[in-house]
Amino acid sequence: MFETTIAGSLPKPAWLAETKKLWPAWRASGAELAAAKKDATLLWIKEQEDAGIDVVSDGEQSRQHFVHGFLEYVEGIDFEHKVKMGIRDNRYDAMVPVVVGPLRLKGRVHQLEARLARAHTKKKLKITMPGPMTIVDTIADRHYGDKVKLAMAFAELLNQEARALEKDGVDTIQFDEPAFNVYMDDVKRWGIDTLNRAIKGLRCTTAVHICYGYGIEANLHWKKTLGNQWRQYEQIFPALAKSKIKQVSLECANSNVPLELLKLLKGKDVLVGVIDVASDTVETPAQVAATIGKALKYVPRNRLFPCTNCGMAPMDREIALAKLTALAAGAALARKRYR
Ligand code: ZN
Repeated sequence: MFETTIAGSLPKPAWLAETKKLWPAWRASGAELAAAKKDATLLWIKEQEDAGIDVVSDGEQSRQHFVHGFLEYVEGIDFEHKVKMGIRDNRYDAMVPVVVGPLRLKGRVHQLEARLARAHTKKKLKITMPGPMTIVDTIADRHYGDKVKLAMAFAELLNQEARALEKDGVDTIQFDEPAFNVYMDDVKRWGIDTLNRAIKGLRCTTAVHICYGYGIEANLHWKKTLGNQWRQYEQIFPALAKSKIKQVSLECANSNVPLELLKLLKGKDVLVGVIDVASDTVETPAQVAATIGKALKYVPRNRLFPCTNCGMAPMDREIALAKLTALAAGAALARKRYR
């Protein structure tokens, strides 16, 4: 009961990349960088195990950014001439690459880190990838000319990599779809279809993560405009409940999401965010257990998995580690309290 996991990313050590940045520059290149990525992956596997996390991740140590880390392995994208684009409904600007031809995978995307992590932990292993809708919202297009076609093309590539990851021994494959909280009508129109395409034929556990973003300035600003009750999930959860995805990861700690919305995810495992990634204040185990207790009113105990609100990539490394420890300790406390 209450198996713990994390949304995905973890801070990169200062010797691997710039710290506290969403798009950090690597500290090395070539073989030296490849070795550093391996070392950082192993380090975080060990830290997660020692903290008491049950379903561990590679911490996304091998990719610069959660979306572009995938795109680098896709043919048909021009990275040389990036363009400025407003993303997440113009919440912030990003320099994004451009789709210029038919999309195809150049080869395996996450094979190295998945196999490395698999070889070094007996815990369940999760690998994350960006969801089709979020990718389409983070790239410019000069070839497909149609958002849905483009998203479906990406979904096919994601599925190809996901099937290979399953063969590598990955237990959970999670797609990150922060865009689901922004384009709620599109989610119902085609977002869930593309997600179903991405998980087609998988037998491992599948998950989708939907959140209000990392604790960066633009997101904190956006959250202030959302009012006292954040009800975006209300519009998409009924449709998600009908999807083929097994788990839904969302944020509940220090957020204005009314927890009764969790009822709308009937039949799904719910990865309940009990750790706020937008604050450097480390939760106490009692606070974590209390959040689990509140969610328990709406989620059956065998379907509740305590998790972080979102990825921890831009956080201070020591604080992130303390939060992982609090997450596991809080879940342990909840196991006693809500037996
Ligand atoms: Zn997130």
